[in-house]
Amino acid sequence: MAPRPPFRGAGDAPPPLPAPATWAFFLDLDGTLLDLAARPDAVSPEGGLAGMLVRLERMVSGALALVTGRAVEFVDELFPEQRFTVAGLHGAELRPSPSLAGHLLPPPPGTGDAAAFRAAQDLARDRALPLPGVLFEDKGRAFALHYRQAPEQRDAVARIMAEALALAGTGHRLRDGKCVVELGPAGQDKGMIVRNLMGSAPFQGRYPVAAGDDLTDEAMFRAVNALGGLSVRVGPEEALARSAASTGIETPGAFRSWLRGMTG
Ligand SMILES: [Mg+2]
Repeated sequence: MAPRPPFRGAGDAPPPLPAPATWAFFLDLDGTLLDLAARPDAVSPEGGLAGMLVRLERMVSGALALVTGRAVEFVDELFPEQRFTVAGLHGAELRPSPSLAGHLLPPPPGTGDAAAFRAAQDLARDRALPLPGVLFEDKGRAFALHYRQAPEQRDAVARIMAEALALAGTGHRLRDGKCVVELGPAGQDKGMIVRNLMGSAPFQGRYPVAAGDDLTDEAMFRAVNALGGLSVRVGPEEALARSAASTGIETPGAFRSWLRGMTG
């Protein structure tokens, strides 16, 4: 029996949950499985996290995907010993774990105009350079400007990224996150990843469980809710009130403990 996350609303009776071995997991990384860091490149997995995810993946017969805004390559560097199923760049990349060999997963969408994308990337990098505390992040088919260390630069970052989007043209879109604006491939969000994977083995027919902590995770929550699953917002109570998630848990640490309780 899985330990239950704290359910929204003190008076709500928690819905009955099926056995964890019948679940399919869609897990965000930063702020969900990983504690947030001051710089985007400074995150690191808590000792034992990779092993716990491997046990979880085994428990659900491979129906576990890390659904993140990071590039697949970055996730592989975080977990050098493992190759998890990763939906990177909000679903623009999809790389199945070797445990899914023989399963046919839906292909990610095609790329837009590469030259226009590079021009947009150069513009954002150059314009951000003189802004103190603003960090440029190259994610391959996406890039981002972070302003966690300089919240006063929020409007400047928004203007730069709007200009970059105009250059990059169709096939791309902006995504707002916690102190970050990102430009990447359009036509895909975390909700579509959930719907696509739930149409294929080993995910198909399982009870979907999604967890995330940011605006881009809301599409994933809505998709899971529509499929009758469990959506978990990691963060303080106030954040849950503004979220489509059906339940919440306070911190990445508490969320990891909840998962650990299932895998032993
Ligand atoms: Mg996150």
